[in-house]
Amino acid sequence: MSIHKILFVTSEAHPLIKTGGLADVSGSLPVALKTLRRDIRILMPAYRAAKIAMGRHSRKAELKLAGFPDDITLLEGYLPGTRIIVWLVDSPRHFDRDGGPYANAEGQDWPDNAERFTVFCRIAEQVALNQASLDWQPDIVHCNDWQSGLTPALLARTSPRPATVFTIHNLAYQGLFSWETFQGLHLPADLWSMHAMEFYGQFSFIKGGIAFADMLSTVSPQYAREICTPEFGCGLENLLSQRADRLVGILNGADYGQWNPARDPYLAANYNAFTVEKKKANKRQLQKIYKLPHDGDIPLIGLVGRLVEQKGFDLLLAILPQLFQRQVQVVVLGSGDKSLEQRLELAVSDYPDRLGAYIGYNEKLAHQVEGGADMFLMPSRYEPCGLNQIYSLRYGTLPVVRRTGGLANTVVDATEENLARGTATGIVFDEATPESLLHAIDRALALYSRPKPWKKVIFNAMQQDFSWRRSARQYLELYRRAASLG
Ligand code: ADP
Repeated sequence: MSIHKILFVTSEAHPLIKTGGLADVSGSLPVALKTLRRDIRILMPAYRAAKIAMGRHSRKAELKLAGFPDDITLLEGYLPGTRIIVWLVDSPRHFDRDGGPYANAEGQDWPDNAERFTVFCRIAEQVALNQASLDWQPDIVHCNDWQSGLTPALLARTSPRPATVFTIHNLAYQGLFSWETFQGLHLPADLWSMHAMEFYGQFSFIKGGIAFADMLSTVSPQYAREICTPEFGCGLENLLSQRADRLVGILNGADYGQWNPARDPYLAANYNAFTVEKKKANKRQLQKIYKLPHDGDIPLIGLVGRLVEQKGFDLLLAILPQLFQRQVQVVVLGSGDKSLEQRLELAVSDYPDRLGAYIGYNEKLAHQVEGGADMFLMPSRYEPCGLNQIYSLRYGTLPVVRRTGGLANTVVDATEENLARGTATGIVFDEATPESLLHAIDRALALYSRPKPWKKVIFNAMQQDFSWRRSARQYLELYRRAASLG
């Protein structure tokens, strides 16, 4: 069956709004699918920031939802820089506010998140069924993460309907709400059942997607296997195992239009695999930004990411005294957990010549870290796909990563054997412990001190191709399977 029309339901999309990898995927995959000549449209909440970022838009349809007094408008515009149509669900009481998409500026979840994303998912249902005055009937509804997990559950109750696909970008974020909250959502009462969306006494948005979508995917083959086990399954491993024949892993691609050291406008010097020595100018720039001593020879390690337990920043903090007995500088960019932020800032005051930290979200600086560091560290406890290691490969900033999820699928460890074979692209380690991390950094430093193999690994890394085209074809195959089952 040929799939032509796709409704892509997401709670964030770069460059409209972004908190993490989901936004990167939502900003890139639709573009890759459009290149494969599919008619794909994005549905997203009309957050205040997203409306501003979208610029010109028109009012496309006025909608109502049973149980809610609000007038809801569908705004139509384009994903900036593309011809992808975006529909924003404008329910001002729910989305027109300052702060992030899920939490306020202090990082506290919005208290009405259950209602906000119920409204979003029910409008997605209307659009999916061509009941939103848009005169457009999708063949596939592709939902992403818990914020859109209710939509496959609602659609499963209707016939005829388009086929549904649900992608798990991070299983740990589930959208769990109390029984009392559920009662205020005006949803079918039978959704509160262990065979539907009830999960150990709570209402689970993500379970709606997992239990009811025709096909499931996650963002790397390794994470697809991991989430069927108790260690990574977050309590959903049994359900996922039951549906394992419907679950596939498709690696995220990188948007090399934005992440390309040869064209990156944020770098002091652009370079490619044949001119890597120019990277030195970026290293100098980075040392300046982080107020570290200028030194072209000292190995510089970069980290970028959400400061949360998942990412293993605490493992780095635990080894700093030993690490700084070695000749090495470290720069960190991230925000999140307040206690981790404070511990990092304290550590900077202990090692001002060795450690730099920028607490906050800064797209430009993320590029500069990739362009200027020698190595990029990702000691994640779990990592569904991870994008930064993929960017790091392209920037010749050798990734030092834990063997988990997408990290395991994208980085080839520089063992002597892989070095001899010419396949090594970084350093991979197994245990999420300070000792293991320190050992991995020592291996990276040892490689750094051997210019010939170091340069060879950089060259290999920069040749790796994780562009979206391949992944987009795999999504099309997934859509076909969903449609044949639906
Ligand atoms: P996750 O989705 O778990 O946050 P990914 O590696 O899949 O992790 O994607 C993270 C994306 O967000 C990357 O593009 C990364 O560069 C970006 N990012 C994370 N934290 C920051 C930050 N503080 N400043 C700039 N970019 C950031």
